[in-house]
Amino acid sequence: METATARQFDLTDDQREVRAMVRDFAAQRIAPNAAEWDRGHVFDRSLYAELADLGLMGVCVPAEYGGAGMDFLSYVLAVEELSRADAGVGVTMAVHTSASTLPILHWGTDEQKAEWVPPLARGERIGAFALTESGSGSDAGAMRARAIEQGDGSFRITGTKQWITNGGHAGSFVTFARTEDGTDDARGVSCFLVRGDAPGLSVGRVEEKLGLNSSNTVDMVYDDVAVAPADLLGERAKGFRIAMQTLDGGRITIAAQALGIAQAAFDLAASYATERTTFGKPIGAHQGIAFKLSEMSTEIEAARALTYRAAARKMAGEAHTVEGAQAKLFASGVARRVTGEAIQVLGGYGYSKEFPAERYYRDAKITEIYEGTSEIQKLVIARKLLGLDVR
Ligand SMILES: Cc1cc2nc3c(=O)[nH]c(=O)nc-3n(C[C@H](O)[C@H](O)[C@H](O)COP(=O)(O)OP(=O)(O)OC[C@H]3O[C@@H](n4cnc5c(N)ncnc54)[C@H](O)[C@@H]3O)c2cc1C
Repeated sequence: METATARQFDLTDDQREVRAMVRDFAAQRIAPNAAEWDRGHVFDRSLYAELADLGLMGVCVPAEYGGAGMDFLSYVLAVEELSRADAGVGVTMAVHTSASTLPILHWGTDEQKAEWVPPLARGERIGAFALTESGSGSDAGAMRARAIEQGDGSFRITGTKQWITNGGHAGSFVTFARTEDGTDDARGVSCFLVRGDAPGLSVGRVEEKLGLNSSNTVDMVYDDVAVAPADLLGERAKGFRIAMQTLDGGRITIAAQALGIAQAAFDLAASYATERTTFGKPIGAHQGIAFKLSEMSTEIEAARALTYRAAARKMAGEAHTVEGAQAKLFASGVARRVTGEAIQVLGGYGYSKEFPAERYYRDAKITEIYEGTSEIQKLVIARKLLGLDVR
């Protein structure tokens, strides 16, 4: 159903079309498989070829680089709709686009863009973003992976990256490693483009997760991986800025993922509340359940407004660090609360695998953790608003 926020934002015809197309595709191709993919931890590679055929592996990538040439809000709408059907599919496409394709478009040279972006935008390659390590997540600048410069200007990367979404299936990795001797913080970090088949790069441990089981999360081991000078992205020792600005945009799509999960949980709870009867009436007619559903829908609408607002600012080329962090902070909390309440509305059936409420609940939690935890979002917001280095 068309929501008030969607109307208020006055989506263009193109944006509505993308949303309707993704919604239909997700309802037919993704939602019916989501429970099985969750149970079997299935990453369906063929699905991403189908998404690519629909232009969804490069929604907001210009047509000259093989993308669909749509705007950033269209992409956000696509992530929301995919996540409504399966949050793992949503994050696969979101990390591929926001964290792996867009940084190359933004910081790449003409040659890098021409070489790396089209295979990603056409879905021939899946992209990954390798920043986190076992000892450095929120404090990403404390990473230990090293890229040592060779006599010919090339680099050799050694280290292990942890929690890498898409890692087991990716053809290219936006990779961060320390290049400067004598540094142990963000100042010594550079960013590199690494091919999935690079000698020395291998998949380590496959992560067993609480949810998001249709998404692939692995350790990536870099054992003396050679990188040509042409594959340094942006300036040497300025890589951390690329990571942070990439996350500024990525957080808006994680907010969209949270929104999609919350909307799915609400839809399920609302429909159940009209069908299930106790004490002679539908449970939705009991005030306790009616109030829950009202609060859930209100929170979802507020999250949607923040998310679309952040996307609109990014599209307009305006600063969006605070707005993106606010959207993610709020929408992820909404997803956790709404999915918990959906289980409550379904009672015992909510706790059972017969309904997807429990999957939504497990999937929702990650949105408070990756691309910066909720605590880190609060620091990002306060740091900007107060103009202080809040740590
Ligand atoms: C499923 C999944 C997929 C992921 N995908 C990727 C990926 O594709 N690429 C990638 O690079 N990373 C990825 N990550 C890593 C993710 O971004 C980190 O897990 C996250 O940033 C948190 O880092 P951490 O796990 O090291 O927690 P820590 O940084 O150790 O934090 C632990 C706790 O301390 C809190 N905390 C830390 N510092 C502060 C502070 N200064 N003030 C207040 N509280 C603080 C945190 O909020 C958290 O509650 C993924 C993680 C998961 C679980």
